[in-house]
Amino acid sequence: MIKKEREKNRKLLTYEAFLRRLPENYPQRELIEKDYMKYLIGYKGEVATDFYLSELPDEYHIYNNLRIFEGNSYFQVDTLLLSPSFLVILEIKNYAGVLYFDDQYKQLIRTLEGKEEVFEYPILQVDRQRSKLKRWLTKNNFTNIPVENLVVISHPNGIIKTSTYLKEVIRSGSILGKVESFSSKFKQSIFSEKDLKKLHKLLLKEHTDEKIDMFTKYNIDQSIIKLGPCCPICFTLKVEKVKKGWVCINNCHFTLEELLKFSLLDYSLLFSPTITNSQFREFFFISSRYTAIDMIKMLGLKFTGAQKNRTYHIPY
Ligand SMILES: [Zn+2]
Repeated sequence: MIKKEREKNRKLLTYEAFLRRLPENYPQRELIEKDYMKYLIGYKGEVATDFYLSELPDEYHIYNNLRIFEGNSYFQVDTLLLSPSFLVILEIKNYAGVLYFDDQYKQLIRTLEGKEEVFEYPILQVDRQRSKLKRWLTKNNFTNIPVENLVVISHPNGIIKTSTYLKEVIRSGSILGKVESFSSKFKQSIFSEKDLKKLHKLLLKEHTDEKIDMFTKYNIDQSIIKLGPCCPICFTLKVEKVKKGWVCINNCHFTLEELLKFSLLDYSLLFSPTITNSQFREFFFISSRYTAIDMIKMLGLKFTGAQKNRTYHIPY
């Protein structure tokens, strides 16, 4: 049973907002697109795995993309399975090519199109997440909880090779069988209905999406970025101002509210989760303060501060 849906995380959405607003011929564009593709391929692998997760019986609670602060640092899991008697962390890798798990030197070597590449050893990665999860569970008075780890290879063209048998490494199709084997290993329930509810609330409450400052990360000046509203359907910035809003050059149909919300999400992802009236006008190329006030009212944005220097909070 899915308890937390898989959605594009804030990092992916930020890359998408950034790339549609970065000039086409900008020198670093290729590098940023490459980084974006890496994250997107990872996300697609997770989505492909959802099919196999849907085969699990309802007693398994599925939490996708969790990122929780455990006191020292964040633990981040692609999927967490919660059953009444144990937990499983799934680290999903959507790598194509020959994947050689070198357990002696703790490295993953991928050979693709004649090229060798080394990756962080996923078993170490998932072990680290497990230690952090266990610390967080203990902090919340859940002690001695069995937590199993799985590294799931989701790419149909990923060939697994290992230096020794690694029980944690599986293909997506084996998830159900592997989880069933855990359930025969851990027969005794450790979580009551009440515990499961408490843990559910805690996991959702403490989840925080990673925020990423693209300008610092790529050392790019904010002035490079194209401002203006964006079509919420085809994502073009080529929208034309008409009397009561904007129209898309591709004739997409949307309401003014949909366009404002979508464009403000870009603003929030790239610049700031708050906006003033003058920043709003600068971003949307609007000259009238009152037109801006009307639009902000339409969105019902919460604000702080007195009339003149009011700051509006973008809730997404
Ligand atoms: Zn459009």
